[in-house]
Amino acid sequence: MSSDKFSPVALNHCNTYDTDTLYSLLCRQFALLGIGEETFSGKNVVLKPNLVMSKSPEAAATTHPSVLRAGGRLAKRLGAKRVTVAESWGGPYTEALIKNHYKGCGIRDAAEAEGIELNCSAEWDTVEYKEGRKCRSFSIIKPIIDADVIINLPKLKTHSLTGMSAAVKNFFGTVPGIQKFEMHARFPEISDFSEMICDLCEMLCKRSTVISVCDGILGMEGNGPTGGEAKEFGVLLTSRSPFCLDTAAKDILGIDSVTTVDCAVERGLCPAFSEELEVLGDSVSDCSVGSIKLPDSQNNSFLKKLPTFMGGKAARFFQPRPKINKATCVGCGKCKESCPMHTIVIVDTKNGKKAKIESKNCIHCYCCQELCPINSVKVIKNPIIRLVH
Ligand code: SF4
Ligand code: SF4
Repeated sequence: MSSDKFSPVALNHCNTYDTDTLYSLLCRQFALLGIGEETFSGKNVVLKPNLVMSKSPEAAATTHPSVLRAGGRLAKRLGAKRVTVAESWGGPYTEALIKNHYKGCGIRDAAEAEGIELNCSAEWDTVEYKEGRKCRSFSIIKPIIDADVIINLPKLKTHSLTGMSAAVKNFFGTVPGIQKFEMHARFPEISDFSEMICDLCEMLCKRSTVISVCDGILGMEGNGPTGGEAKEFGVLLTSRSPFCLDTAAKDILGIDSVTTVDCAVERGLCPAFSEELEVLGDSVSDCSVGSIKLPDSQNNSFLKKLPTFMGGKAARFFQPRPKINKATCVGCGKCKESCPMHTIVIVDTKNGKKAKIESKNCIHCYCCQELCPINSVKVIKNPIIRLVH
């Protein structure tokens, strides 16, 4: 039974990246949700896609350019004064790399086609958030700080750390570049990290009007958010609440537990199950994708209960750990740069340079897996867990 307490979610089957079709569908979803000119007229609108890596849209790791085009076109038609794309990927946040990313992900051409600006400045600032439960100060990229309206454009993917990446997790991309790794180091426990992400998301929703439009057309299963396989989920979801959108998304994917959703449920920001949501358009059960491959780091639901025990040491001991595939590693050092605990070294071997993980300080954040451009970081289960599972 749905509740008025929560923001509704518009959900539709969608199996195409044809921009005009997507634009029409998005017009319908905005109308269903009562989002119109009053939200956009004269406003400074920022489109926030997920561009975690410089990968082509077919890899399904990043928001498809056509979804961005549809969102930008609609914001303009509804009277936005200015529409800008802004995103901070996982590596160093510099003007040259930002430009490179837009190009590699097909966003530069998409923005050009719709007459949308691209933010290429690497400016950021600190924003205080006194109400934060876990984190009360965030570094945030400048365009997001200045936005009246944020159209949050996540990609629907499995995620090695949180279980799923959709609307809520996409906001971690507002933290500039490698400062994300510092956040992982500050919040090494998954429960604390997820609370921090919820603080960030709540803060941004209080500062600006947020509308989330999730690209679940071609999504990712397995070792997301970058190393999994593309899978057709065939859905487009829109909501004023990123938290409610994620509840619907996890039920469509059939994922039992997503740590950021669990935190948001505990805060009363969304229900645990989509039955308690008003879903407009197609139903969650009609859009269900059946079973999907989870990340190798998941399938250990009982581990999620362990962080409170022994100060988290027990959970960390049993957690799946990253392992370098020495046969394919090319020693590029991207994993080393991404490791918040500085626990990866590049060593010379008879087969060339290879990454090596000093596992003692590893906090199992899986940033190395996420940022390896050729999927040479695998995640392996603890042998004891392998025996009992
Ligand atoms: S594991 Fe991946 S990111 Fe790390 S050095 Fe090897 S190829 Fe580069
Ligand atoms: S080795 Fe990988 S999983 Fe471990 S702390 Fe470093 S980046 Fe995170």
